[in-house]
Amino acid sequence: MNTNLQTPIDYLKGVGPNRADLLRKELGIHTYQDLINLFPNRYLDRTKYYKVNTLQRNSADIQIIGMITKFQEVGQKRGKRLVATFKDETGTMELVWFRGQKWIRESLKLNTTYVVFGKANWFNGKFNIPHPDVELKTEHDTNLRSAMQAIYPSTEKLSNRGITNRVMTKIMQNLFLETKGKFVETLSKKLLENLNLISKSEALFNIHFPQNLEVLSKAEFRLKFEELFYIQLQLILKNLIHKSKIKGFPFEKVGHHFNSFYKDHLPFELTNAQKRVLKEIRNDLGSNAQMNRLLQGDVGSGKTIVALMSILIALDNGFQACLMAPTEILSVQHYNGLLELCKYLNIKIKKLTGSSKTSERKKIHEALENGELDLLIGTHALLEDKVKFKNLGLAVIDEQHRFGVAQRSKLWKKNTSPPHILVMTATPIPRTLAMSVYGDLDISIIDELPPGRKAIKTVHRFDSNRLKVFKFIRDEIDKGRQVYLVYPLIQESEKMDYKDLMDGYESIARDFPMPKYQISIVHGKMKPADKEYEMQRFVKGETNIMVATTVIEVGVNVPNASVMIIESSERFGLSQLHQLRGRVGRGAEQSYCILMTSHKLSNDSKTRLETMVRTNDGFEIAEVDLKLRGPGDIMGTQQSGVLNLRIADIIKDSDILQQARHHAKQLLEKDPSIGHPENAVILETYRQMSKYKNIWNYIS
Ligand code: ADP
Ligand code: MG
Repeated sequence: MNTNLQTPIDYLKGVGPNRADLLRKELGIHTYQDLINLFPNRYLDRTKYYKVNTLQRNSADIQIIGMITKFQEVGQKRGKRLVATFKDETGTMELVWFRGQKWIRESLKLNTTYVVFGKANWFNGKFNIPHPDVELKTEHDTNLRSAMQAIYPSTEKLSNRGITNRVMTKIMQNLFLETKGKFVETLSKKLLENLNLISKSEALFNIHFPQNLEVLSKAEFRLKFEELFYIQLQLILKNLIHKSKIKGFPFEKVGHHFNSFYKDHLPFELTNAQKRVLKEIRNDLGSNAQMNRLLQGDVGSGKTIVALMSILIALDNGFQACLMAPTEILSVQHYNGLLELCKYLNIKIKKLTGSSKTSERKKIHEALENGELDLLIGTHALLEDKVKFKNLGLAVIDEQHRFGVAQRSKLWKKNTSPPHILVMTATPIPRTLAMSVYGDLDISIIDELPPGRKAIKTVHRFDSNRLKVFKFIRDEIDKGRQVYLVYPLIQESEKMDYKDLMDGYESIARDFPMPKYQISIVHGKMKPADKEYEMQRFVKGETNIMVATTVIEVGVNVPNASVMIIESSERFGLSQLHQLRGRVGRGAEQSYCILMTSHKLSNDSKTRLETMVRTNDGFEIAEVDLKLRGPGDIMGTQQSGVLNLRIADIIKDSDILQQARHHAKQLLEKDPSIGHPENAVILETYRQMSKYKNIWNYIS
């Protein structure tokens, strides 16, 4: 590591104690190294000059040569601003400062040629540039300048106190002059050669002072690769260490339960995806290491049967198993389903939820501890301290996004040695993101639906077409189908939403009058018992239409319901729309999803609707969702560090991420301890990295 890069930023020419203080506070820049790793947000072409009379409204950043002819203070108190009249040979415009006026007034001269640079606004019949970058023309001409001008991250305080982008660039230039632009290489020769990467020094120079687009993109690639490579190396190493340290129970045999179920009681042929995933799980269970696997599969892809067969392997090896779901409804559904599937097998299954009676609980606790009970299904109630297993070998968690890491670790403690863990989720996150976020989990994916499913037909209709939609509903009901009608519920305006729902209900009740039509209504303000009653009426087919808020999102299974109408669907997120749609398409009939909206749609809403209409694929939808919302909203990303990336973008650079992961894996396969001399650079960099939180503090 180049020691002089640890020099405090105060010592750099052009910085000094005041600016150093600001840089520390505003951008976290303490050392030369921090500064070199302050990567530009974007680049501008500063070889191009505009004229005042050619400016367009909404033009982006512009650069103009001219003179200030007048300063004027305008407005009072908070509206006070300094306005400079700026003139070139074609016309005049204004430069405006809302802050730092004294400093500006003192440092800028009248009738002197400047180059001003910034974003032009159209205001009161004139163009103006608020807080422009202003540079003497004479200085502008002598500066080291490339066609692509770096624009650095900044803050309000920095620009108020005179640390403009121009100043940042100047400081950066000084850093390169002082270090002669020589930086220690942080990737091995082999990687540089194999991937045809440019050197560290060349990359750093060109990320800050790109000589042309081609070399800029090479610099970006090299630095992004490096960043992702070291993150992946760390994640994979963590996973390997976990596997070698934490011994699992090897489930060596595939025994009676599994074989008899597979040969005689499997109700259908497994899909190839199910077979593949089952193999992955069996490999894990048979090895010495503890399994920690995430099973992703869209709604209806058949995760339950995979879970059951994994459980059977545990039982065949003399262990107990448990299956945990986030809600009572889902646990009951699993309990009934698995009882049915296992009716010819000799295994003991019980259910434990919040509403289990005390006497029943006691029996379950006993049977668990003395080993009579083979499989326990339930809710969070399984995590209570009183629930002790004789020998828990496998824990399956359904809908993992509702359980946190803390709860997973509670399951671990149910045994002397941690059980194998399988978590299942129906709200997939894209594979590339999953790789980075869940570094400690292995991932299996069911990417195929069971055969014979009819794809749900999805359409978008404007509210003005409501009559046609109602006609469609009538036709479907005449065919014997049932219909969901869902209204949005957003916490902040609960009252209004409730009113929407009630208005909607009344209008539906008018258009679908009793006694021919029966309607259920379910919303969050109802008592649980009333809710349950209304749900049951719909489940039993006593009502034709279910008017509801999103409370039905999880756990309702009514195969005869074939139409899902989502009102104000522009107000729903993509994954929620997809989950709602998953309520239909469960029976043999063709199912439909109708997305109702007003005519006013934002671009994001349009994208969401188009995506829903185009595809039923949960993974594709997750990708789009991620692009729209960014990774910040996705569970687990907050802790994972993927958001602290300096230069790579987890979504846009997923190709580079795959390559980085591939090379990190390959390296560790060939050289698990990173001890080979040719990897010395990598080991050294990795060691440095472990000392710091942010990886760019060491990759220099
Ligand atoms: P999810 O992945 O959403 O939990 P389930 O496991 O509940 O999906 O399966 C959805 C439905 O598909 C169930 O009724 C199940 O019996 C059925 N199913 C699962 N696998 C297959 C298969 N290979 N062939 C036919 N039907 C299947
Ligand atoms: Mg399921």
